[in-house]
Amino acid sequence: MNKIKNVLKSPNINKSIKTVIALGGDGIGPTVVDATVLILEGMKLDGLEIKSMPCGESAIASHGSAFPPETKDAVDNSDAVLFGATEESAIQVIAYLRWGLSNVANIRPIKYFKGAHTVLKPEYLDGLDYVFVRENTEGMYAATGKEGKLRTLARKGLISNRDLEKWTKDAIYAMRVVSPPATDRIGKIACELCVKRQKEGIGKGLLQIVCKPNVLRSQDGLFLTRIKQIAETEYPKLEVETYNVDDFASRLIRFPNYHDTIVIPNMMGDILSDEAAEIVGGLGFAGSGVYGPKISYFEPCHGSAPDIAGKKIANPIATILSAAMMLDYLGFENESKKLMKAIGNTVAGGLELEKNWKTLSRDIVPSSYRKEGKFGSTNDVAEKVLEEYKKL
Ligand code: ATP
Repeated sequence: MNKIKNVLKSPNINKSIKTVIALGGDGIGPTVVDATVLILEGMKLDGLEIKSMPCGESAIASHGSAFPPETKDAVDNSDAVLFGATEESAIQVIAYLRWGLSNVANIRPIKYFKGAHTVLKPEYLDGLDYVFVRENTEGMYAATGKEGKLRTLARKGLISNRDLEKWTKDAIYAMRVVSPPATDRIGKIACELCVKRQKEGIGKGLLQIVCKPNVLRSQDGLFLTRIKQIAETEYPKLEVETYNVDDFASRLIRFPNYHDTIVIPNMMGDILSDEAAEIVGGLGFAGSGVYGPKISYFEPCHGSAPDIAGKKIANPIATILSAAMMLDYLGFENESKKLMKAIGNTVAGGLELEKNWKTLSRDIVPSSYRKEGKFGSTNDVAEKVLEEYKKL
């Protein structure tokens, strides 16, 4: 278990030169990743090298594979990956980054930047800064490819013929797995992050365990009990709260700025983090890091968004936030903090729309501005973030 303890920092933190592989992928992926690389290069960090490599549908066309061998080699020899998005057919890219590299913890921070346009009143969002620690390898998503016809279970004697009659022979089952090792691992990572956030003055040392133990008594009972025990025995200074996921979904909206470090099973974390992102301005504001023992990867929570692909209107902030997490992971802590500040200063432009709309992305301006075409392109936003960074 101690092996897992330090996943929040790269094992190569002392290397003099760290290599990042940028994988734009498909849809808006290349647009937001290129814009973020523009910032990272403009920051002129000593000891950081960035190399872009092909992947996704576009790589099938150009290299005959969604994940060409040269891309895999580059990833294997890197210190971190900055990833955009791939279409569903390029699942092998995600499969390698996630399962192939044992990246087990999906950390999704939710932070409100003043000036962002949201559906909630800004005064309720003051100080909102919390984080989802989503188990990333099992739950419902462990079972990819493990759905099947219910009748095969009847044939194996795992359910009765009466059950089959009730549900009908064409009913489909899906498997959900919660294991002790993965639960302990994510619990420990969440506790570590909770401590880190408190030390940095961001969090209040509150670990919130969210799942559905009132229905999934054994399975989520295991998740809750083991993580609670880890927190109470190994991190006695942390305060622990436990919630049913449905209740917690409403609490995210009712008490927007209460939360701290939320540890949650895979699919529930996927869903609630999208809800939470909406509270702070939408998917364009949701960055993430997917951490493991070797090479972690950093990606926006959104996908390839085909509806806005190629239009250069995607908000790059989610990817820039992911890059800030990556810099912290690689040991560029001060630069990471400065980048966060630069993002904040850029979004704060939203407080004076008429003056700043040229450097605000389409999803952060009100609809009246959108209708008039008054917003900045992906690169306008990125250039503004870099300009703000250089001022600090
Ligand atoms: P995928 O299937 O790859 O997950 P998707 O379109 O189903 O793609 P998302 O990519 O998550 O799902 O996008 C959902 C919607 O959110 C998009 O239709 C788009 O309008 C909006 N969106 C997502 N990312 C951004 C962004 N960076 N900037 C602006 N809008 C975004």
